[in-house]
Amino acid sequence: PAQRVAGARADVWTIVNEAAAASPVQPIINMGQGFFGYNPPPFVIEAAKGCLDRVECNQYSPTKGRPRLKKAIADSYAPFYNHELDGEKNVTITTGANEGMLSAFMGFLEPGDEAIIFEPFFDQYTSNIEMPGGKVVYVPMIPPSRGATEKTSASEWKIDMEKFKAAITPKTRMIVLNSPHNPIGKIFSRDELEEIGEVCVKHNLIILSDEVYDKLYYTPEKFVRIANLSEEMWKRTLVVGSGGKIFYATGWRVGWLIGPEHLIKYVAGAHTRICYSSVSPLQEATAIGLEEAEKYNFYEESRKEMKAKMDRFNEVWDELGLPYSDPDGGYFVLVNLAKVKLPEDYDYPSYVSSRPRDFQLMWFLIMEIGVAAIPPTEFFTLENEHLVKDWLRFAVCKNDDVLETAKERLRKLK
Ligand code: GLN
Repeated sequence: PAQRVAGARADVWTIVNEAAAASPVQPIINMGQGFFGYNPPPFVIEAAKGCLDRVECNQYSPTKGRPRLKKAIADSYAPFYNHELDGEKNVTITTGANEGMLSAFMGFLEPGDEAIIFEPFFDQYTSNIEMPGGKVVYVPMIPPSRGATEKTSASEWKIDMEKFKAAITPKTRMIVLNSPHNPIGKIFSRDELEEIGEVCVKHNLIILSDEVYDKLYYTPEKFVRIANLSEEMWKRTLVVGSGGKIFYATGWRVGWLIGPEHLIKYVAGAHTRICYSSVSPLQEATAIGLEEAEKYNFYEESRKEMKAKMDRFNEVWDELGLPYSDPDGGYFVLVNLAKVKLPEDYDYPSYVSSRPRDFQLMWFLIMEIGVAAIPPTEFFTLENEHLVKDWLRFAVCKNDDVLETAKERLRKLK
């Protein structure tokens, strides 16, 4: 086997999902991987059913995506951009945001080229950069110092700008930004984006901006997009979007990239050779969803609903006196469980006992409490994993009664 696959350790999503399935507490409440505990809204489900009855929807789509979906993305996103969007030039559809990112790295990194990611990072970025032979360069984000003792805000995490500037070499080609951020839930402010953008212009870097949680912002200010800051930013930015995140359908694998034609065409070129084209009926259904979303005031409702879930769930941490990092957006919350005592002679499998304490917390919660969460050291380098060794990441995109049951179970941690 190739070292890029055989040398990689088991991914955290599989570890947590398999442990959850093996828990004696069933049904387990799985708040690990960010999948929804409920269906897409009825207008999207009905659209999908209708698409399966159409002959042309069950056959190959054009490599860059179905024209109706590219147009729906361009039309629904145009009000959020200072730039005109043409579905045929500025959009390409991918098999989930994940494959879109892989295609972007495939399209722009030669072996040995460097891509900068900020730490913590969504774990797939690293392998997606390394597959085309790219080198990952890590730049830390600095957490608030009081995070272990009191409730903090996700916005307090800051990129170490000095380290960012120092990390750039003649081989640096791209940076990856993620806002709203997974796992922190931070939304980068306009000032922060301007500072980052300035560095990218100076060194002529491509910005891959992962904005898959863009509809879920809880800040008073509307979500700021780096591509919008100037014409210079637009020209160098590829924005990653996700139909699965917007419409509660992560299994549909409908993602996309939005950007200037001179960048999009190389992403599309790579995508064509990786996947050829993406799932047809669900592309068409996502197009209909985007066309109709405003009619149902869906984005606004969705944002309010998710924020209510976040607040509902986090009450339990307030009750237990466990500090958490209050997110500005998305559906993940990071909680500090340093005060939770783990039994000394607990029998962990070796792939859990050999990892930092967050893996043992994860295992204990799954096996004894019946709630699954993600150990966030997975999103850090070995050097910095100590920062979150007492934390877990919980996904709150679950029905309210399930959130209440999770809280009931978590009260046992007292
Ligand atoms: N984005 C999802 C999460 O963070 C996971 C996606 C995946 O499993 N690759 O939970």
